[in-house]
Amino acid sequence: MRFDLIKGFRSYLLCKSFKSSRNYSSTIKMQVFTQKRNPITGDTEWDVQHEDYDYHQEIARSAFADMLHDTERNKKYYRALQLAIQKVHNHGKKANVLDIGTGTGLLSIMAAKCGADTITACEAFKPMAECCIKILQMNGVADKITVIPKRSTELTVGDDGDMKQKANILVTEVFDTELIGEGALSTFSHAHKYLLEEECLVIPDSAVIYAQVIESPLLQKWNKLNDLVDEDLQLILRTPKKMKDCAGSAAVHDIQLSQVPREAFKELSDQIPIFYYDWSGHSSIDMKRTVQQLFTVTNTGKAQMIFMWWELNMDPEGKICLSCAPWWAHPDANLSSESPKDTIPWRDHWMQAVYYLPRELIVEKHSEVSLISCQDEYSLWFYLQDEKTKHKHYQRPVCECGVHMALSRTHVSYLNDGRRSKKLLQKVIEEVSKDSVVLDLNGSSFLGLAAARVGAKSVYIIENMSLNIGILNDYIKENGIENVQIISEPTDEILEKVTNIVCDPNFSSAILPWENLKVAYLLYKYRNKLKDGITVIPTSCEFWAMPVEFQDLHKIRIPLGICEGIDMSIFDTLVEKSRMISDSEIEAQPLWEYPCKCRGLPRKLFDIHLKDLKPTFACDGKNPIVDSEIEGVNPVNGFAIWAVWVVGENRISSGPVDWPNFGDNVNWDLHTRQAVKILKHSRTVTDSDVWYYQVACDLEKGQFNLHIDWVNEE
Ligand code: SAH
Ligand code: ZN
Repeated sequence: MRFDLIKGFRSYLLCKSFKSSRNYSSTIKMQVFTQKRNPITGDTEWDVQHEDYDYHQEIARSAFADMLHDTERNKKYYRALQLAIQKVHNHGKKANVLDIGTGTGLLSIMAAKCGADTITACEAFKPMAECCIKILQMNGVADKITVIPKRSTELTVGDDGDMKQKANILVTEVFDTELIGEGALSTFSHAHKYLLEEECLVIPDSAVIYAQVIESPLLQKWNKLNDLVDEDLQLILRTPKKMKDCAGSAAVHDIQLSQVPREAFKELSDQIPIFYYDWSGHSSIDMKRTVQQLFTVTNTGKAQMIFMWWELNMDPEGKICLSCAPWWAHPDANLSSESPKDTIPWRDHWMQAVYYLPRELIVEKHSEVSLISCQDEYSLWFYLQDEKTKHKHYQRPVCECGVHMALSRTHVSYLNDGRRSKKLLQKVIEEVSKDSVVLDLNGSSFLGLAAARVGAKSVYIIENMSLNIGILNDYIKENGIENVQIISEPTDEILEKVTNIVCDPNFSSAILPWENLKVAYLLYKYRNKLKDGITVIPTSCEFWAMPVEFQDLHKIRIPLGICEGIDMSIFDTLVEKSRMISDSEIEAQPLWEYPCKCRGLPRKLFDIHLKDLKPTFACDGKNPIVDSEIEGVNPVNGFAIWAVWVVGENRISSGPVDWPNFGDNVNWDLHTRQAVKILKHSRTVTDSDVWYYQVACDLEKGQFNLHIDWVNEE
């Protein structure tokens, strides 16, 4: 799991582990005030929340369940533990196991089942350590495993220590999509120095990181803003040079690479093993390194980015290997299958990573080019060079243009979506004349600047975020625009003059689709000051929903029950409780990365006409799955909800890009996230099944609520 703005549980543990000092076990739970930014009004509001609100939110949104549903991972750890413990016993020694980052205790319980003699389990996140103790009790292994609620680097060894003696087997899973982003390098180094015998076995034994050089104009849209052009490819806005030249953000773009359409990228190299990590202790671990490798280009093209993934060798003999490769490079993929991407294990807690090159390089087939791979304690970055283009340094790229700091990758890709921007532009060109006074409600888009370029008399753009204002000012300068003012709030005087309102209905602050109702909130706020007869772009919006069957995504939320024969129901209860408290029932996901089938007709929930706004409205309704009979077995495990914005004759969908047919895979828009409700239990639906929705919206306060579920709970 990953959000641009909200980090997953695992990285939370890394960056906010100071929180673990809070005593979550106290029995008196208080209500506390928390500060929250209302995405519709943009205001900061005080809210009464459960004392542990943010802890619960993190648990509820954690990728933990998905990781535990990862059967391949679980089984390979189990098998490797079995082999290691056997080996130690065969040498006539006791097997003393250390499990770093035990989480639910899974790997320790496996070790107990494999006959380990002593087991120490440490966990840095205290609430998890507490949950772990309960899981151990429930599974009858509490007396075999010592749980220590500490970071491994704080463990002590000795008669009075956390461990009586050093361990001779280490089992640990402290890896993220970047492999080392959770601090694996220091965790292993420290363990070998202080916690392990010299002669020891480590699971996993080693890891390899692979890189592949790629051209992909599609993915580059997530990285760099393109010039804005109209229908006839006339240039409307030129992107400032400093944005084109910016080395970009060093932050990894984690992505389900196997879902990227095959025609959207070109491989310019084979997969290149770039870094080998020996976890076994036989050689030391470098906290920092730079490696230069010559490789032969396999295709002529423009090298724009590096695709990265890794594999773990679980045992020293290399018999058990776990690969995170995308389908075309995966050792277990069936390439002759109709859909090779469906022949490899799915997981969301480890994806693949895209690193955008600080500078693109044209490369020729059969030529030799150098890949420079750099690593520090927590991250990776890359450079590419040939004889003609040598870099002066290989420093970690930093954004110097503002875009990579101000805007999420998803928002950048949205702004680059030509199909959508052309529809908006077409309408702007149609409506804006030399007498127009334009008010743009969304300064995280370029519609107002475009209105100025196509001849408006004057343009006011509402924007409060200083980074966004910086970007607008750079565009204004680059394009020599003179009649634009950026304002934080329009005065009455301005509002009285306005003839046209424009608003690209995607705010950089919005995560869920209805957070873009900010446009309706603002229009309602200004309604009495505005002249009659002004034009508004877009005209209206509709919200739609449909029942779906996720191929895999539901695994990030469904209960675990029994996992490798271990009862995890206490963990399920903890997650469920956290979900209730933090109310994160509906979440945003980029559904194009998560295949699903349409399992019910899309239904319109409500629409809002932007020129006819009511202060509050509420609606509800019931919808049968289909209007006719259905055949076959039709499991439903979620609902997807999205907005369609109407711009004159045109419709801009932030959901399916073409009308979904019952039973077919849905083709989702690549540049927005959809709202998703994942059902705890899958349900096989018949034509008599009915779902309901309830919507309440308050445009005065900027509040929106939506519920969606079955009419008859099973
Ligand atoms: N071992 C479990 C959980 C893996 S998730 C399993 O395989 O299912 C990784 C866990 O390690 C997280 O709970 C995180 O809090 C913990 N962690 C990461 N680095 C740690 C360290 N150095 N010491 C203790 N815990 C750590
Ligand atoms: Zn930048």
